Amino acid sequence: MRNKTSKDKLPGLKSELKQNSFILFMRKEFNTSMWIKLTPNMAGALQTCPFSFQEKYLTKAVREPAFGYNPASRMGQNVHAALDIFYKRGGSFNLSEMDLLDLLNQKWDSDGFFSIEEELTYKQEASRLLRNYYAHSIHEPSCQLRTTETFHTTATAVTLGQHKLNLSGRFDRLDLYGDGTLEVIDYKTGTAGAGFPGQEEFAGRLSNLIYFRLAKDLFPDVREITVSHYYLRSQRKISVRYTSEVIEAARTELEILLDELEVGVAPTLVNHNCAWCLVRKAGRCHQFTQREAETEEILF
Ligand code: SF4
Repeated sequence: MRNKTSKDKLPGLKSELKQNSFILFMRKEFNTSMWIKLTPNMAGALQTCPFSFQEKYLTKAVREPAFGYNPASRMGQNVHAALDIFYKRGGSFNLSEMDLLDLLNQKWDSDGFFSIEEELTYKQEASRLLRNYYAHSIHEPSCQLRTTETFHTTATAVTLGQHKLNLSGRFDRLDLYGDGTLEVIDYKTGTAGAGFPGQEEFAGRLSNLIYFRLAKDLFPDVREITVSHYYLRSQRKISVRYTSEVIEAARTELEILLDELEVGVAPTLVNHNCAWCLVRKAGRCHQFTQREAETEEILF
């Protein structure tokens, strides 16, 4: 969850900054122009550490290396690909468990595994996840419309305060029900127990807010939108229903973060990603530069 002390002091900081012309100077100086592209992942990164986001996506002082699959991410990709076709062909209503496992075989991509033994281990695990998934999917309620692997981008900018956002993202699954409600479902294939969120933290995730807003853009007439994560290792699902209160809390936090970016005062938030953070490794995170310089002196 976002650092509370930082968040608590920000509304005051926000109004203070808006009262003077410093904001205009800084906007020009940092040339951010606040027309920002946001995906659910980027919004999650912004919330986790605003300074890291600023360095990677705004000033581009630090660049991410080209994406490459590792064994876990490739297995996740293969499971997603099998589920995509599974639902396109009618899900458990039309297909058996064996059909789903056949789809996994057909869609399996070996890129990213370092040995045949490793690949086999991951494939067995993927099969186990999908067998368990199939058993649960039989009890899913039927819906009016179900789409999978849907990419969407907002055609025009979405305004938030003084900021303009271009939103885009890929939905693993969208279920539209006859009662006018829509559920966005994101599959998770990460390690067991790792990262099953608490309800409050989950409801406050800005990545989910972006999914919600994109879904609203795709289906403007739906009565209600829920965003869910389905954890295949535990077959557990967590959901947030976007009531007006949930929307307001999340959009306020996002607006404050964008204000901070605009004036170049994005704070650092120490978190579980710091160990492999590229900003830290480039010596640009003040939370660590001093400490690491001191450690170096002791070592050498
Ligand atoms: S090391 Fe941690 S606190 Fe510093 S920029 Fe990276 S994520 Fe943020």
